[in-house]
Amino acid sequence: MITDLRLLPVLNSKGETSVKVSLVTDSGSYSASVPSGTSKGSNEAKELAFEKVRRIFPKLRQKIIGLEENPEKIDRLLISTDRTSNFRSIGGNLALAISIAAARAQSHGNLWKLDGLKENETFPLPIGNVIGGGAHGGGTDWQEFLLIPYMAKNPLEAIESLIHAWYAIGDELKKKSLLVGRNLENAWMANIDEEDTLELISSIAQDWHMRTGIDFAASGLWDGKCYNYRKSGMKLTTDKQFDLVKETAEKYKIWYLEDPFHENGFASFTALTRELSKNHLIVGDDLYCTSLRRLEKGIQEKATNGIIIKPNQVGTLSQSQRVVSLAHSKGFAPVVSHRSGETGDDWIADLGILWNAPLIKTGIMGMERLAKHNRLIQLWEDVPNPRMAELP
Ligand code: PEP
Ligand code: MG
Repeated sequence: MITDLRLLPVLNSKGETSVKVSLVTDSGSYSASVPSGTSKGSNEAKELAFEKVRRIFPKLRQKIIGLEENPEKIDRLLISTDRTSNFRSIGGNLALAISIAAARAQSHGNLWKLDGLKENETFPLPIGNVIGGGAHGGGTDWQEFLLIPYMAKNPLEAIESLIHAWYAIGDELKKKSLLVGRNLENAWMANIDEEDTLELISSIAQDWHMRTGIDFAASGLWDGKCYNYRKSGMKLTTDKQFDLVKETAEKYKIWYLEDPFHENGFASFTALTRELSKNHLIVGDDLYCTSLRRLEKGIQEKATNGIIIKPNQVGTLSQSQRVVSLAHSKGFAPVVSHRSGETGDDWIADLGILWNAPLIKTGIMGMERLAKHNRLIQLWEDVPNPRMAELP
């Protein structure tokens, strides 16, 4: 039984005050803190400022004390108390902190076995962000240039190789006097354009036997008519953006393509998926915002073959879980993801295993990112019969 509930401020990696909830039960105390995005989709659950959350919290605390640690039930209570479609009243950040703390309580701190033990637990392959731009900071308009160590035999090998590749890229940028610093996710920021970045990551990916990816975060470029490239001054129509994305994917063999079009550009996604889905993973992030309704639309329109899962885009674990189940049932790859503003909490690592996700976006460096890696590394030792996900 839940005997107490506490709300605590916690600073995230952007230095903002985020929400942490600690839940006391007969069997112990379980807490969860929640991250915050920068390039957010307009269909995300509403995040409330900590001071507002502090005012709302006592009402929820009263309702939850005395309940069993049943996460599904608690999630339903959060939704019915809120009464809006996007957690405008109680905040998606407060809802998610309670939701995850409750699930942690039920699984005695081992979220990965919330649904019981499977015969073989699959570990997601980490996707590492090596060079950045866009709203996260850096020389390119595209937000993230990514590496995937798809041949790694365990999480430690995967993460070590990402770290080596990240250093190798930093050294190369330094040698050419292009390095500026690190951005919100500790990807390198450099005086470099898309073309040179693609050349660099392609050669590093070859050296390290990795696949490459891009998160275009194209909603940030879209003004309602065109895709605006601020650095080069280019203004691309939808058709021209489509051509650029397709040419880039084919020329540089970019396997993973996230948000190449703006958040309502379903038709462009569908056209790209029709042409590239045989050899590429086309992933919707802002397109879906982890919403069941938007995923249903994506399935109907064959918009992508992958979906980013960010529980704070929707506000509870059970809503996220339903999205993951639907994705799996339709052959869409769920990619569990961190946010640019992360806390030291590591629950996405557990969710990657619980949900059988083939991929997880965790960044590479910085203690808030390494916390997730360290959890995967530890669970590899703890879990019976672990195996790494395999990519098609
Ligand atoms: C992303 O766009 O995939 C991302 C992690 O960034 P943010 O958290 O800023 O949305
Ligand atoms: Mg994204």
